[in-house]
Amino acid sequence: MTNRQRIAVLGATGSIGDSTLAILAAHSDNFDVYALSGHQRLDKLLQLCQQFNPARVCVPVDKVDDFAAKLAQAGLDSEVIGGPAGLDDIASDSQVDAVVAAIVGAAGLSSTLKAARAGKRILLANKEALVMAGQVMISLVKTHGATLLPIDSEHNAIFQCLPPSIQQDNTQIHKSSYGVRKLWLTASGGPFLQHSFAHMQQAGVAEAVKHPNWSMGQKISVDSATMMNKGLELIEACHLFDLPEDKINVVIHPQSIIHSMVEYNDGSYLAQLGSPDMKTPIAHALSYPERIDSGSQPLDLFALSALEFIAPDLQKFACLRLARQAMQAGTQATIVLNAANEIAVEAFLAERIRLTDIADINEQALSQVKVASLTADASIDDILAIDDAARRYTQTLIGQMAGQIAGQMV
Ligand code: NDP
Ligand code: MG
Repeated sequence: MTNRQRIAVLGATGSIGDSTLAILAAHSDNFDVYALSGHQRLDKLLQLCQQFNPARVCVPVDKVDDFAAKLAQAGLDSEVIGGPAGLDDIASDSQVDAVVAAIVGAAGLSSTLKAARAGKRILLANKEALVMAGQVMISLVKTHGATLLPIDSEHNAIFQCLPPSIQQDNTQIHKSSYGVRKLWLTASGGPFLQHSFAHMQQAGVAEAVKHPNWSMGQKISVDSATMMNKGLELIEACHLFDLPEDKINVVIHPQSIIHSMVEYNDGSYLAQLGSPDMKTPIAHALSYPERIDSGSQPLDLFALSALEFIAPDLQKFACLRLARQAMQAGTQATIVLNAANEIAVEAFLAERIRLTDIADINEQALSQVKVASLTADASIDDILAIDDAARRYTQTLIGQMAGQIAGQMV
């Protein structure tokens, strides 16, 4: 690669952060770890600072002094800044070439938008940013000449299967002369694919977050168990590739070897295959359009048994149905769905509700939270107002439900 790129990893202490930093460490000639952020796992962040010596580091506002003291004790002079304003500052720092957006949930929205406004190269893991503000985000990317490279494995796979000119300009790709007919998002089906709905109803946190193929953070692991993750990814794909939801199919592929596909008019299906390891899409996005060694295990094609493809059961995995419904209704609905789901997942992780209640809660929020339609030029405040209304509604609903559910949980 030509120039040494300065990278900011927002969400450095998480699962995507781990994979990203493993690649950056292995390619220190090409990349400089300029900035890191963490939220609760600050001991881990301190270790990362010792390893990478970033120029800037962001922690929650009330932890800035304490963290700065610890860095000084360790003989490090990184600048410590705090909270959402600190994240925004790093995302738009003139020294930064690329921002890895790997904070989970709505907390990652503001800094991702800032990176777009600052014209950065954005390596996007935080799918919730597109679910909440896809149109705003894509329009900022275009206006400010930013580059958006998907890290989410399915979207990265699709990106790789599209011609270079579409990679550069995603406008209405199905109407272009390249003959894109459909996209196929593959899904593993999560830990409950082979189990009944009744089994899912009684599943505890440990079983729900134990994904068969991928090792990920807690929130996305629960989303995979309900298939809300695929629903969020469907919405993410609509924005990234400028397609209506009916041009995107979801297929369960339990082996997680094919990471997604593009179907063309002439009957060709282009797929990207690889081991289920996030280091591959992250390395692709870091070095795009060149290629570097990601450190992931090569596929042992001779050891692979059959590759299966199964239609998703939309009754058992109602969240997937809700995502399509929300995408058809408009951005205000996808914001409500995302917010309700974040609150419901937190409540499940806190053992206040059952796994299968998440879909019911999301459905109620979609039908009961009354918000006006958003226009394409909606402001971030308009978006956050809807997000807030949906969170408050969902908290109240869960408060009412939790008492009744407690008696039914084993
Ligand atoms: P993790 O839970 O492992 O990590 C989340 C990161 O966000 C951590 O660094 C965490 O800090 C930070 N964080 C959490 N809350 C806040 C907050 N309020 N303010 C600032 N920082 C915060 O999640 P993952 O790495 O698994 O996922 C990150 C994103 O990437 C998600 O949007 C997910 O959907 C997406 N993604 C993940 C994949 C995966 O394989 N893991 C695959 C595809 C997409 P701390 O840990 O210090 O509290
Ligand atoms: Mg994914």
